[in-house]
Amino acid sequence: MKIKEQESLAQYTTFRIGGPAKFFCAVKSEDDVMEAVKFSREKKIPILIIGGGSNLLILDSGFNGLVIKNEIEGKRWDEENDGQTVAVTAGAGEDWEKLVEESVERGLYGLEGLSSIPGKVGASPIQNIGAYGMDVSRAIRSVRALDTSKMEFVDLSKDDCKFGYRDSLFKHEKGRYIVTAVTYELYKNGKVNIEYKDLKDHFTKKGNDSPALKDVRQAVIDIRKKKLPDWTTWGTAGSFFKNPVISADKFRELKDRYPELPGFAEPDGRIKVSLGWILDKVCDVRGLIIGNVGTYEKQALIVVAKPGATAKEVIDFSNKLMHCVKDKTGIQIECEVEWAVA
Ligand SMILES: Cc1cc2nc3c(=O)[nH]c(=O)nc-3n(C[C@H](O)[C@H](O)[C@H](O)COP(=O)(O)OP(=O)(O)OC[C@H]3O[C@@H](n4cnc5c(N)ncnc54)[C@H](O)[C@@H]3O)c2cc1C
Repeated sequence: MKIKEQESLAQYTTFRIGGPAKFFCAVKSEDDVMEAVKFSREKKIPILIIGGGSNLLILDSGFNGLVIKNEIEGKRWDEENDGQTVAVTAGAGEDWEKLVEESVERGLYGLEGLSSIPGKVGASPIQNIGAYGMDVSRAIRSVRALDTSKMEFVDLSKDDCKFGYRDSLFKHEKGRYIVTAVTYELYKNGKVNIEYKDLKDHFTKKGNDSPALKDVRQAVIDIRKKKLPDWTTWGTAGSFFKNPVISADKFRELKDRYPELPGFAEPDGRIKVSLGWILDKVCDVRGLIIGNVGTYEKQALIVVAKPGATAKEVIDFSNKLMHCVKDKTGIQIECEVEWAVA
């Protein structure tokens, strides 16, 4: 395993922003992960794990520690219950979209709604990726990781991972776990979920009320293509903020002022509100560009950056959005994108 110095990090993120890493290495096995962590301990420096860099903002000053790019590959498809379920175990460095594609090609249900999300398998449990009414935690059976507090590999069950909306144990115990593989449980004779409005509308328009698995994947790809910026040309990390979850009382108060505000009931009685709607209709910032940074013209929740943008510009711009939402609605919003600070 080669350790480089002063490696530029912008090339490893979809924002394409950020300074260099003091030290940088790519890991291809669990032995490499162990070696990399030992190196950081000897040098007494912090660690940052990078997958596809699609949910990360690297500061202009770079990362004053060791950046570990996870490139652990490999997939295993184990049939269970007379072939009714399949446990697929994928290395953390496998491409997420390729895993979803292959699962649908094999006729397996469970990941199709998460098509076209950039990034690697190892990051899927970190923020419990989700879209179109589905969270990956529903499909995750276990997560294998190096527990750096004990310097041993552990297999965490779904319950151990404490999944929530864009949330998990890994976000609360930052830096403790380095994910090396994830096992998902997929189904041969599953049922597609097209309850989410965009998907429902898509199939209603097509007059198809019982779409096949591959139709749902294609529909998600088509809808996302229309709604999201092309991250191969725009610098972006997708949704910059989480949709806020607020009390039912607060939601009623906002509904009085903004009757069209979309809200979705959570199992605990609170309401998840559409921040994209608030930024668009209340703050009026959809498509606003300041300098090199702005919100995407079709979806205000997505912060986009032109080539040459700096992390400082992104931070200043996102602070403006946070203040606007706080002033107009009283809601303190939280970033979904992770900032790498060291
Ligand atoms: C255009 C676009 C659309 C997007 N749409 C969605 C969407 O619909 N839904 C959604 O949920 N997200 C979405 N995202 C965000 C992003 O794709 C996901 O969060 C993805 O899982 C990030 O994967 P990554 O490998 O790029 O992670 P990175 O950005 O490299 O890392 C993200 C975080 O996870 C940590 N991490 C990464 N790998 C590991 C590991 N092996 N072990 C421990 N920690 C690790 C990193 O340290 C960092 O804190 C979108 C992003 C873009 C650019």
